[in-house]
Amino acid sequence: MGLLVVACGGRSPTSPDSGSAVPAQPFAPAAHAPFPEVGSTSTASGSVLTRPTVVPIVWQNDPLAGQLVDFAARLGSSSYWRQALGPYGVAPLSVGTADVETKALPPSLRDGDLRTAMADIFSGAGTVENPPSPGTVYAFFLPPGVGIRASINGADTVTGQSCVAFLGYHDAFQLGGGPYAGSTVVYAVIPRCPLTGELAVFTDPLDAVTVAASHEIVEATTDPTKTGWSSLADLSNFAWTILLGGEVGDLCAWNFFTPSDIGHAVQRIWSVEGALAGEDPCAPEGLYFGAAPTGLGEISVAVGGTTFEARGLALPVGASATVGLDLFSSAPAGPWAVSAVEPAVKMLGAPPTLAFAFDRTVGENGDVLHLTVTVLGSGTLGGALPGYEGFVVESALGTQRTFWPVLIDSR
Ligand SMILES: [Zn+2]
Repeated sequence: MGLLVVACGGRSPTSPDSGSAVPAQPFAPAAHAPFPEVGSTSTASGSVLTRPTVVPIVWQNDPLAGQLVDFAARLGSSSYWRQALGPYGVAPLSVGTADVETKALPPSLRDGDLRTAMADIFSGAGTVENPPSPGTVYAFFLPPGVGIRASINGADTVTGQSCVAFLGYHDAFQLGGGPYAGSTVVYAVIPRCPLTGELAVFTDPLDAVTVAASHEIVEATTDPTKTGWSSLADLSNFAWTILLGGEVGDLCAWNFFTPSDIGHAVQRIWSVEGALAGEDPCAPEGLYFGAAPTGLGEISVAVGGTTFEARGLALPVGASATVGLDLFSSAPAGPWAVSAVEPAVKMLGAPPTLAFAFDRTVGENGDVLHLTVTVLGSGTLGGALPGYEGFVVESALGTQRTFWPVLIDSR
């Protein structure tokens, strides 16, 4: 799922000045706090789609329909897919027969409408062209002018409108009756959003769709029923799950590039190996830069009947704390801009619960910035976690952004 967190980089190696007798220092990323340890929360069959097939669903009245079907076909055999998904044990993505819908959609849909339509088709007596089977991902490319309301990560308390609260989502449900009763239907939904606000970084409307589609199709593959790969496996870094979404697309959101064998932009994907090395946690290899907080403590998190310790700040309402921010990049880059945002405020319209003050808002690899956070009031993280606040330290360079989340216990 992408809470509006969904950026291009090329490595630019430093080369010694040919006129200089002194060799240049090799570049090294500055030391910073470790990244979360993304893992699979279940090894059960179906927790990861190891042999995935995507079925693109497009609408005849959509001017991008043909290009989207073409994108889906290129995605699966691309070097991007192999480099990003190979380490998760996922084979190249096959492509089912595209489903071109002729019946226009109403301007406003709910997620349940799509589920009902799918359940009707799969429960019917007629022949189904792309029946649900383990590995199948139905990718709905909604046409322009159609909005959808979704329940995000299954939590009805955090719902939102497409293009406002999210740029795409994926989910799954089980069929109750008919010839495929008991089958799990895995699907991704990519709404068509105007190239305004954060999407103004795109000049081609197709790129905005293909970036979101790569994110959601990858996550539908690595975490189809929310028991696969995510930062939920590392509860000490629960902030990455609750504030960013925690799945392998979410953690590299807004980090995109255009592979030559696809021809349209796709999003980079979390790399367990890259994260462990502490340098570039996204794949395929590109440029990663960020601002990692220092001086966090341990807080107690109570969620869903369990309590565990996680990195964060214990700050009662009215209190302030200053954290250091270690700036680092995987290759020479920047300087870049650093800011702090509350996701629930930005994406769900919740009232602000935090105030931020920086000593500096620009820096590069090796710089240390300071951020003072004041808790103004007690929030709920958009309904997800009453008694807690959270913010995301955002690093922005050109069209590219990265995020480092911090959880606050204000109880
Ligand atoms: Zn996501």
